[in-house]
Amino acid sequence: MSRHISPHSPVLVTGASGYIAGWIVKYLLDEGRTVHATVRDPNRTSSVAHLLALAEGAPGTLKLFKADLLAEGSFDEAMQGCELVMHTASPFVLDGFTDANEALVRPAVEGTRNVLEAASRIDSVQRVVLTSSVAAVFGDNADAAAAPGGTLTEAQWNTSSSVDHNPYQYSKVAAEREAWKLCEAQSRWDLVVINPGMVYGPSLTPGSHSASIDTLVSMGDGRLRTGVPDLSYGVVDVRDVARAHLLAGFKADAEGRHLLVAETLTMLQIGGILRAHYGKGYPFPRSQVPKALVWAVGPLMGPVTRPFISRNVGHPVRFDNRRSLALGVQYHPAEQTFVEHFRQIIDDGLLKRRRKHA
Ligand code: NAP
Repeated sequence: MSRHISPHSPVLVTGASGYIAGWIVKYLLDEGRTVHATVRDPNRTSSVAHLLALAEGAPGTLKLFKADLLAEGSFDEAMQGCELVMHTASPFVLDGFTDANEALVRPAVEGTRNVLEAASRIDSVQRVVLTSSVAAVFGDNADAAAAPGGTLTEAQWNTSSSVDHNPYQYSKVAAEREAWKLCEAQSRWDLVVINPGMVYGPSLTPGSHSASIDTLVSMGDGRLRTGVPDLSYGVVDVRDVARAHLLAGFKADAEGRHLLVAETLTMLQIGGILRAHYGKGYPFPRSQVPKALVWAVGPLMGPVTRPFISRNVGHPVRFDNRRSLALGVQYHPAEQTFVEHFRQIIDDGLLKRRRKHA
């Protein structure tokens, strides 16, 4: 069913302090809209200073609200009067935790339930845009082989992840399934889902803990100096992801899921793009480590497990992005995305900060 969102009603953005959400808030403010932005701690400067600065120079209006995914009823106040809800908040961390359920799955699923149950309670809400992920479509690259023609589309669902194997991917598929279930239980609001690949591109905040940022920092801080596994990713620019949220929110006939992938690249190709632009000053990876060696030493070097290596290293992956093109998404070339992102990482001093803590 088509939905016309009033340009005068406020838009709720959950997790507004985040990497992707920063760009969503910027584009909404640039369009002159009122943004109800939820953060866990509105007094934490590293979460909100860039948002306040964006609002200073933009025609729109920013209102900050405190909300936590795990606190029931937390989003009600911020949602009052909003016709459009953009739910981006969810932990995106790949390591540094001991309990994957507590760190990832519970906040993702209970948080989605919390936000969407509020949408069902609050009469003004007409549409919810959910930031899901390609991780809700597939878990391991090996899963792509089972898709028709070996190409992943919005018709696939991740059935290979669990809390023990790829818990982040599991958190995303479980949260998206919960969202569709809650959507189907009512008829006032509709759900439009954005499923981005690995997101890169300049961040508006050096404060985000998004794994997107750390994985690009690792390309230039020496951690991958000795080589990278043969791993392929679907990648997309953060600005295109944010624009897709606005298209999904305001295009009256938007519906369903949307895979957002500009290009598919190996880690070595990403290193090659960076070396071509930034030269020899940084220890970008130059070679691929044979799978047998990754198998032998990978688990000793971090959160990489043997089942992950077996089902991802050396497995190609392909995506069909035609639904996102029909939505109106225009993709930045991946080369521009990586070059501009790495420039911001240098300018924000993130490489040095990482070396200091290594
Ligand atoms: P990010 O910068 O870490 O943003 C995540 C946001 O979630 C933060 O603003 C964080 O708020 C919030 N959050 C985490 N736990 C919370 C809790 N318990 N209560 C309230 N808020 C909480 O990561 P991002 O990359 O922008 O990710 C945003 C969304 O995009 C996530 O749903 C992620 O799964 C999805 N996504 C990301 C990528 C990617 O490559 N980056 C790809 C596909 C999908 P605080 O500031 O309070 O910590």
